[in-house]
Amino acid sequence: MAIKITDDCICCEACEPECPNNAIYAPEEAWKFSDGTTMENDEEREDGGFSDEFFYIATDKCTECRGFNDEPACAAVCPVDCCVDDEDHVETEDELMAKKNKLHA
Ligand code: SF4
Repeated sequence: MAIKITDDCICCEACEPECPNNAIYAPEEAWKFSDGTTMENDEEREDGGFSDEFFYIATDKCTECRGFNDEPACAAVCPVDCCVDDEDHVETEDELMAKKNKLHA
């Protein structure tokens, strides 16, 4: 499943540079599939996890770090443990790897 950032976020920015998919964005910053990936879709989006208050994770770009890290890199560095499982976006291992392969063809 994807990881999400809760409203306990203190906007310290520790997680943002750790994401291999560039799935983490600052508050109010629109996300794009093309940021940090091989995808060419550079449409600016404000759906799927977008937040105007806290750092957020673009759900469609989070692979739980599959193919890069043994555990979610954002959760590992978060000082307030606000990067947690997004129970509304449960995915299988195969789905996560397919997502990773779509982002990094
Ligand atoms: Fe990025 Fe990994 Fe965190 Fe998902 S779990 S947002 S891929 S660092």
